[in-house]
Amino acid sequence: MSKVMIIGAGGVARVAAFKCAEHPEVFESFMIASRTVSKCDRIAADIEKELGYANVTTAAIDAEDVPALTALLNEYRPDLVMHLALPYQDLTIMDACLNAGISYLDTANYEPKEEAKFEYGHQWAYQQKFKDAGLTAILGCGFDPGVTQVFTAYAAKHHFDEIHYLDIVDANAGDHGKAFATNFNPEINIREITQNGKYWENGEWVEIPPFSIRKDLNYPDVGPKASYVLFHEELESLVKNFPTIKRARFWMTFGDEYLTHLRVIENIGMAGIQPVMHKGVEIIPLEFLKTVLPDPGSLGENYVGQTSIGCRIKGIKDGKDQTYYIWNNCQHAQAYKETGAQGVSYTTGVPAMTGAMMFLTGEWAGAGVFNVEEFNPDPFLKKLAEHGLPWREKLGVDTEMEYPD
Ligand code: NDP
Repeated sequence: MSKVMIIGAGGVARVAAFKCAEHPEVFESFMIASRTVSKCDRIAADIEKELGYANVTTAAIDAEDVPALTALLNEYRPDLVMHLALPYQDLTIMDACLNAGISYLDTANYEPKEEAKFEYGHQWAYQQKFKDAGLTAILGCGFDPGVTQVFTAYAAKHHFDEIHYLDIVDANAGDHGKAFATNFNPEINIREITQNGKYWENGEWVEIPPFSIRKDLNYPDVGPKASYVLFHEELESLVKNFPTIKRARFWMTFGDEYLTHLRVIENIGMAGIQPVMHKGVEIIPLEFLKTVLPDPGSLGENYVGQTSIGCRIKGIKDGKDQTYYIWNNCQHAQAYKETGAQGVSYTTGVPAMTGAMMFLTGEWAGAGVFNVEEFNPDPFLKKLAEHGLPWREKLGVDTEMEYPD
């Protein structure tokens, strides 16, 4: 039995905390530590009320203050830190974990505040430090990044000799009834989707303007949805770990209304990340926009519909062409009923808790910095289904994606 420290108190942290509390046989106790302690207290109170689990403590912490976080870690001595705050804190939390001798897990790769460019290089640079310390860092253990890489590793292990084409397909066919809202932190989300798209082809990255490649893809139990190629961080580690991949793309669905709002936000300068002066005070337009947009955590109550995220793969098995589709669909209303959070938080928080369980039970082990496709996919996917995200697979039926050979 183990104890963990969850950092952050947003939608994803809420779901992960609920799921940890549902498994006291592994998570004997845990702390929720975040910038605003009242949010941690609310999650702890809801868990006690809903699940009768009372072993949650809370603390206020600025995760960018390495000495303060190191002191908190030394005082609480968790077996693992689950970093579910924001990507800006990845490196300071990894530093504090190294200081205190504690292993680390997150759900999004590091991004500097002043430049909207995420890449794994910053965190892969910690490889030797974690190895030398005998500690484990598990990077990107949400759904995408996260489950999509485990799906790919599962496909490589069980269904392919070589993977040649990978398309990660992410649909949110949900309706929260708001004119415009993002499903996770608006600042991080808008920074991600307004940067240039990028995909991997024949050994190099092809850069494209945002939203310039569109295709209507069919999602299981959802139907056709307009999908656009974006860059997503897991592509970077997947093409490194599966070098037979000739092309890897990431597709996400967006509705016309959403794109119209986004275009206006960009055109009037509200997506800017450089400081501007407003009434003698320096503000960052996108940070201000975040304060007036709906809190993603508040979307759950009337959210209907579902998400559908998966991997569509083509490659070779026993000398023959093989196509494969593996996916999960998650209902927003069901996620809300169980945890008080919507489906996007649920599909991130459940894998984070499942990855933590893999580490704490010794299924995923090793000293160093790891992306999740480097571990055994089988025990993770078994538990993921038990924890509320059942997945399905289809072989030899995928004719929709276009392949050069
Ligand atoms: P939220 O914005 O809802 O929550 C973020 C939390 O982090 C808030 O409680 C916030 O505190 C806290 N926080 C921010 N800065 C600090 C700091 N310096 N020190 C301590 N706490 C801090 O985000 P989500 O819950 O939606 O997302 C959490 C993470 O999950 C993000 O990194 C996001 O990118 C990632 N994600 C990953 C996905 C995946 O599939 N892999 C999908 C969706 C999200 P406060 O309340 O004070 O603002």
